[in-house]
Parts: sequence; structure tokens; C-alpha cells
Amino acid sequence: MTAVGKTVIVGGGTAGWMAAAAIARAIGTDHHEICLIESDAIGTVGVGEATIPPIQDFNAFLGIDEDDFIRETKATFKLGIEFINWRKPGHTYFHPFGVYGRDFDGIPFQHFMLRGLKDGVAADYGLYNLETMAARVGAFARTSKGAPVGYAYHFDAGLYAHYLRRYAERRGVKRIEGEITDVTLNPDDGFIRSVTLKTGAVVAGDFFIDCSGFRGLLIEQALKSGYEDWSKWLPADRAVAVPCATPAGDILPYTRSTAREAGWQWRIPLQHRIGNGYVFSSAFISESEATDTLMANLDGEALAEPRVLKFVTGRRRQSWVKNCVALGLSSGFLEPLESTSIHLIHAGVIRLLGLYPKSGFVPAVIDRFNQEMESDYTTVKDFLIAHYHVTERDDTPFWAYCRNYDPPDSLKARLELYRSCGQVMPTVLELFKDTNWFAILMGQGLVPDDYHTIADRLPDDELRLRLDEVRRQVAARLADLPRHGDYIAKIINP
Ligand code: FAD
Repeated sequence: MTAVGKTVIVGGGTAGWMAAAAIARAIGTDHHEICLIESDAIGTVGVGEATIPPIQDFNAFLGIDEDDFIRETKATFKLGIEFINWRKPGHTYFHPFGVYGRDFDGIPFQHFMLRGLKDGVAADYGLYNLETMAARVGAFARTSKGAPVGYAYHFDAGLYAHYLRRYAERRGVKRIEGEITDVTLNPDDGFIRSVTLKTGAVVAGDFFIDCSGFRGLLIEQALKSGYEDWSKWLPADRAVAVPCATPAGDILPYTRSTAREAGWQWRIPLQHRIGNGYVFSSAFISESEATDTLMANLDGEALAEPRVLKFVTGRRRQSWVKNCVALGLSSGFLEPLESTSIHLIHAGVIRLLGLYPKSGFVPAVIDRFNQEMESDYTTVKDFLIAHYHVTERDDTPFWAYCRNYDPPDSLKARLELYRSCGQVMPTVLELFKDTNWFAILMGQGLVPDDYHTIADRLPDDELRLRLDEVRRQVAARLADLPRHGDYIAKIINP
């Protein structure tokens, strides 16, 4: 076995620079060389601006100052996602980044809330969740009454990549600009030996990280990992995206997802603009119709020409093959419905750091990495499918298709469990917890048949008192929050 002394990262989008920054931070560049190759001519995918709360851990791991990051990436805060028309036209619900109430007697609050809903002593379950209530009135702060608020960010993807690039270059990462035209494998073991640029320059390395985007330059084109296609359950295969000007008034502290005829439209508010896009299935609507729908549903003047992106939902069969690991779009694509792609990069990078090769490539290490990546992708996939499949909609061919298809067995089992007792019991490694599933399934109109038996032990009066107490606490914390726009303004102009 030979020492792994040089890592070559191919690609400088969000994935490439997140990997470069984290490896430079953890492994360092004193005894280990890191270089990143990116092509300005090819560019990056240029979308990917909504995140989920663990991004805070990634930035904290890098030691990034949060206020500096907010200023430099034109970020706003995100309390969750508002889903409009998903269950049925005219219906709205919210998926918050925080729990409902608090556990009673060791049992999650949702069981008591479900009993309250059944008994008619609880009505709107959003009243028991601070993030939902704050989103309704456009309020935000990172803490209220001394306790943390659940949040993530919306940020400008290009500015975030630049931010991380500066961070990584300061720590010794070498950047090479140029287009890779060839990948050379060792004839004996098939490991990647080097990549060749259009200029003729050859860049050799011991370990390669493929962050080349959808094309999967190393992991697929050179190493033929294979791709598992999930488009029968997640049939969207295109997105048309356009930024627009911010309307006068406050900046919403959440992402909005509006279901449309053959997919859904995102609205992601940044400080300086709003990101918009229509994710759609080309089997059910044409590109020009989707573009017209998007352009007719903007809150402000379009700031660029609409751009169409094509994708196939699924994942690379193996994220790590020989001496190459794929991160980001080269390792798979799940549509941005729950803003999970950047998180999957984060999860992959941290996992990789834990298993970083030192003196060679051990099959058990590679297998472990691949198993965990597979688990990340498949569990997120099921969560996304639930949004489409658990719906009352069948008013367009697209929605009728989604409602009526046969979902994966893993999701079927999960829905059956939820129906029977109001929880899905995810494993500790799963990204989406019971609260997330509860928010989505209730929002989509699936009310469990029953709840935990302990919730029945409380006398009626006691249940009412406890539910009222939680509502009062949420209302008191809400009253403590400023307007989101005012909060950001103070960070920008301290
Ligand atoms: P890219 O951005 O495509 O970067 C690829 C890099 O490889 C570039 O630097 C390119 O120059 C380089 N490269 C490629 N080929 C070569 C070559 N031959 N030679 C040299 N360099 C090369 N994620 C979220 O978390 N939240 C969201 O809200 C979200 N929204 C999305 C919306 C859409 C429509 C899409 C398609 C994706 C969205 N994503 C979202 C996913 C997110 O955009 C990506 O996960 C993220 O940007 C990472 O992309 P990447 O770095 O893997 O690829």
C-alpha cells in the first residue's frame, strides 16, 4: 500500500468547495497536498440556495462566523417550507424546523396533540410549534426567551462557493483552472492515475474526489459506477429557473413550494433577489408551457432569462469506487423539494473525513461509506415520494399518476406504521425524524388511525391544561421575535 499524499478534487461548485474547505480544515495541507480543478467555461449548475438546519454544523465545523457568512452570501433565515396546493388546490401547510410542543411522560407531544384533535380540544396543530407561528407573521431571531429557534438559510450558491474557495485557498488548497479532457487509469488495477487538461497539462494524484456535477466525469464516465433511476416515483426531470426582484415589504423567513399542474414551483428569498423555479415532468408538460407558468407566477420583475436544467432522479450505485469518491450531483440527484442536496454533500464530506484514506484503499472502508450513502439517499427518497403519493389530488394527469403509482415497499411499510400509531420510528442516522414525517403526512391529509396508549392516561382536564400551556409558551416566545427583515438588517449593518 502506498501513502495517500495528494487529493485531487474535480469540480468547483458547491460540492467541490465544500469538500476542499472541510478537507483543508481537518486533514490540512502540511503533509498532504490538495488541489481543485474547475472549468470557468463549463461553469456550475448555479442553483441550490435553500438548506436545512445541519448546514449550521458544517459552517461551525469550519469555524465560520455566522454573521460574516450571512453578509457575504446575501443569506436569509429559513424556518421551514410552506407547501401550497400539495394536498389539494387551495390547501396550505407548513413543514417547520422545530418540534411540536414537548414530550410528556416520555412520549412525543404529537400523540397528545392527536388525542386533542380527536377530542376536539386542539384544533390547529401549528399553534404548538414556534417556527410555524413565526413563519405566519414573518418574524425571526436565532433565539427567543433564551431558547434556540430552529432554522437554516437561503443563500446565493455562487457567493457561498466563492466564500469557501477563499477559505480553502487561505489554508493551502491549490486551484487549477481548466477543462479536463481525459482521465487515465492504471492498466493493472483500474485506479485513476491522472487527469489531463485541454492545455495538455497532466494532474496526477493518489485520491480523487469527483465533484464534476451531473456528468460524473470520474465516477461514471471513467469508472462506470452505474446509476439507479428513481424517476418512476419522482417523475420530474426538468426545472426552469429564474431570479426575480424582491417585492417591497418584508423578506419571508421560509421557502415556498407551490404545487402546479405537472410539478411544483419554488420561491427562495435572498437579501438581494428571489430565486424561483418550476420543477416539472416533461412527460406531462412541455418546457415552453412550464416556462410560461413560471414567468406568470413571479412576485417581482425577472432579472434574467429563464434557464432549463435537465436531470434524472436517482443515485450512483457506488459513491466510492477504487480511489475515487463522488460528492454532490455526481453522486446522485434528488429534487430540491426538501432542500436536501447540499446536506447530502455535507453528510458525505463528514463521513469521508472519518474514513479518510491514509495508506491505501481498504474494501471494508469503501463498503461502509457506500452503505451509508445508499441509506442517506434511499431514506430521503422515500420522504420526497410521500409528498407526491400521499395526496388527495388527481385533478391533472401528473397528480393522478403520482397518487396512483405503487410506492417503494420501504415507504409502504412506513405509511402503514404511521397510520396505525402516528409515528414512523426512523433510525438515529436518518435525516428526517418523526416530527418531519408528522408535519408532511398530516399536511398531505393522512391522519393516523390511532396514537400511543399513554396519551389516553391523562384525564380530559389535564390534557386540556397541558395543551393550553404549550400554546401559551409558543405565543410568549413568538411575541419576543422581531421582523425577519429587521433582524437581517441589524446583521448587515451592525
Ligand atoms: P456543479 O455545480 O455542476 O459543479 C460542477 C463543477 O465541475 C463545476 O465547477 C464545473 O466547472 C466542474 N467540471 C465539470 N466538468 C469538468 C471538466 N471536464 N473539467 C473541469 N471541470 C469540470 N440543493 C439544495 O440543497 N437546495 C436547493 O434548493 C437546491 N435546488 C436545486 C434546484 C435544481 C433545479 C437543481 C438541478 C439542483 C438543486 N440543488 C439544490 C442541488 C444543488 O444545486 C447541488 O447539490 C449543488 O449545487 C452541488 O452541485 P455540484 O457542485 O455537485 O455540481
